[in-house]
Amino acid sequence: MKGRFAPSPSGRMHLGNLFAALLAWLSARAAGGAMVLRMEDLDTSRCKDVYAQLLAEDLRWLGLTWEEGYGIGGPRGPYRQSERERRYAAAVETLAAQGLIYPCYCTRAERLVASAPHRGEKQAIYGGHCRALSDEARKALAQKRPCALRVAVPAREITVHDRHMGDYTQHLTRDCGDFIVRRSDGLYAYQLAVVVDDALMGVTEVVRGADLLGSAPRQLWLYECLNLPPPGFRHVPLLLSADGRRLSKRDKDLDMGVLRARFHPEELVGYLAMLAGQQDRPEPVTAQDLARYFVWDKVPRQDVTLPTGREWF
Ligand code: GLU
Ligand code: ZN
Repeated sequence: MKGRFAPSPSGRMHLGNLFAALLAWLSARAAGGAMVLRMEDLDTSRCKDVYAQLLAEDLRWLGLTWEEGYGIGGPRGPYRQSERERRYAAAVETLAAQGLIYPCYCTRAERLVASAPHRGEKQAIYGGHCRALSDEARKALAQKRPCALRVAVPAREITVHDRHMGDYTQHLTRDCGDFIVRRSDGLYAYQLAVVVDDALMGVTEVVRGADLLGSAPRQLWLYECLNLPPPGFRHVPLLLSADGRRLSKRDKDLDMGVLRARFHPEELVGYLAMLAGQQDRPEPVTAQDLARYFVWDKVPRQDVTLPTGREWF
């Protein structure tokens, strides 16, 4: 059993990231498993090494430890996606050998694909324009601009048996569409990289925010195409602020800088443990103690709205 943290170092973590990170850690520890820390820093315009260092330090401060990965090393490194290009290139080759890859010259669609799509950032389903281009049209376009690479999905339903949320099904052509695996500037897409890395790093369980459930079917399909063993998935509810907004890094909501100045780690873990259904009150507790009585069944399945009253926040 091996779990992972896979943060993007594009800012400081906020309470919602902590919630998912804590659950990932508890799930692995309660089962006697190990943790890996991988920095998902493909989007070089958004990610910074100072954030990577802060992320690692913030996880340690909370008592969320890892045996392998960023800052430690290990047999399946490097643990920064920006240093793993040749593995992604090899995966694209494998897909291309199955006739699944085609060049796409639609430039607008590709901007966000190096990062994981979070709620409210839903990308439009691609209409398949470049899939049907004639050879001449392709040649003409290739003169003008560089291409992104897209993978052609089959008209198939894929069901993810999420261990927390239950079954989730998407029809790949209808609900997902052909998606980008490499941008025209050469950056590989999150959807490809996350699959390659979780597989090569031996991750057996992926615990992450429910806003990525919509990415899980295409990822499961990629595992199949690449002949890699898929992990189990557990998507966890998102935290919403009292006024119903999703917490996000970009809002600077309750980020670790603010939280660390105001709380002890056990207070923060105790509060998150309450939100995770593990205790009735926000009793301070260490992550390690919490792992002894952690049970998935008590973790809510709906988004969690932070209580008002704000004696804590
Ligand atoms: N790196 C992604 C993020 O921080 C998470 C990807 C994943 O857990 O699959 O949003
Ligand atoms: Zn296109």
